[in-house]
Amino acid sequence: MAPRPKRSLSRRVFLTVFYVALAVIVVFTVAGTVYLQNRLTGAARAELANETEVVAAALDDAASDTELLSRLTLNQTRITLIAPDGTVTYDSVEDAASLPNHKNRPEVSDAFKTGHGSIERSSSTLGEVMLYEAELLKDGSVVRLAQQQAGFITVFLTLIVPVLALAVLVGVVSIIVARRESRAIIAPLKLVDLDHPRRSADNAYIEMEPMLDRIESQRQALKAQMRTLADNDRMRREFTANITHELKTPLTAISGYAELIANDMVETKKDLKKFGKRIYREAGHLTALVNDILILSNLDEAEHAGEDDHRMDEIMGVQENVALEELVDSVCQRLEGPAEKADVTMKLELAPANVNGIWRLLDELVYNLASNAIRYNRPGGIVTVSCGFDADDAPFVRVADTGIGIAPEERDKIFERFYRVDKSRSKARGGTGLGLAIVKHAALFHHATIDVDSELGKGTAFTVTFPAQP
Ligand code: ADP
Repeated sequence: MAPRPKRSLSRRVFLTVFYVALAVIVVFTVAGTVYLQNRLTGAARAELANETEVVAAALDDAASDTELLSRLTLNQTRITLIAPDGTVTYDSVEDAASLPNHKNRPEVSDAFKTGHGSIERSSSTLGEVMLYEAELLKDGSVVRLAQQQAGFITVFLTLIVPVLALAVLVGVVSIIVARRESRAIIAPLKLVDLDHPRRSADNAYIEMEPMLDRIESQRQALKAQMRTLADNDRMRREFTANITHELKTPLTAISGYAELIANDMVETKKDLKKFGKRIYREAGHLTALVNDILILSNLDEAEHAGEDDHRMDEIMGVQENVALEELVDSVCQRLEGPAEKADVTMKLELAPANVNGIWRLLDELVYNLASNAIRYNRPGGIVTVSCGFDADDAPFVRVADTGIGIAPEERDKIFERFYRVDKSRSKARGGTGLGLAIVKHAALFHHATIDVDSELGKGTAFTVTFPAQP
């Protein structure tokens, strides 16, 4: 397919101006011709009627009609004399004897009856008109004057040359107007500052405002996207730096203890056991850290998969109907040991509630909340884990503790990766700093909201509410 020629504004303006002007010329020419032709015919008729009356008066006074008529020379006017029986007795153009009886010609018969007859007949293809005026003479005969009058087409043809000249002039003027107008139309467009479209609105056309608004909103959206990208990039770099640091710490400890053992620098069996325990603890911490990093990276990938359900299933597994009360119960059983160690009592308030989701992720969510509730509790404290449907029929899980509490200004930050309110306390209790980040993303994955209710020194309650199930 041949490429479409580019549109030109000046060509468009030219054609518009030219066609409009041409249409006006045509309409005015046709209307003018009709008007002119009518006026000319009217005037010619009045003059012919006058002439007929004058000729009739002259004939009434004349001794010999034919002699008077033969002396009469009227420009472009044909004179005919008709006897009372209709015979043509004189004609200024043709031989009278060759002409047929005229008694029944409408203008002649009118003149015989009323003294005056007048008629207008189209005579040729060019639309010419014949005007006839007839007068009854005193001697009973009728004199008739006839004259040809230019018709519509003849009048039109006489106007064609000036009209064509006018069309050419209009063409030239249209070109000049088109050039100037298109330049004037384009000028405000050229002044638009695409970096600040709203500022350009004063100089722009009113019709351009929606477009400028769109450019502005797209610019803002782009800016926001750039900011998000920059933030994401910064967070990714921070995360990488943090991970490196977090991994290095236990590794350094492990390799330090291992080196001491390898170099026979451990003197007693008791010390050997102590170092072995430390290596075991640091390795456990390392495993927990790597596990949390893997879960988070899985959740990140799932978030990037967006609406692609197939990809989502590949990453997370297929969603299933999860009975929250069973899940909570199994998590709490696993936490019985740590709870006992921390001298914390676990209380369960479970009502049946179902959620469509991924068991593994929901397990991580509840496990991290409950394990935090134990670790940040006080000896003799209580952790209450409940689930069920809330007043809006939405499934929920709540983990409440009687621990140290979280200050209001920390409540958003605790969900950031590796953020800890008290670093040494978190580490001493085996925290990876990733637990609540996993809770946040697992909730996000299930379209759930997290509510934090806390009082420093008294305790904290995390409530995760899932969308009401259909
Ligand atoms: P960590 O592994 O350090 O526990 P989390 O992401 O689970 O990491 O938690 C982040 C921080 O939030 C913790 O270091 C702690 O300071 C605070 N936090 C979490 N849960 C509680 C809680 N139940 N009570 C008090 N503080 C908490």
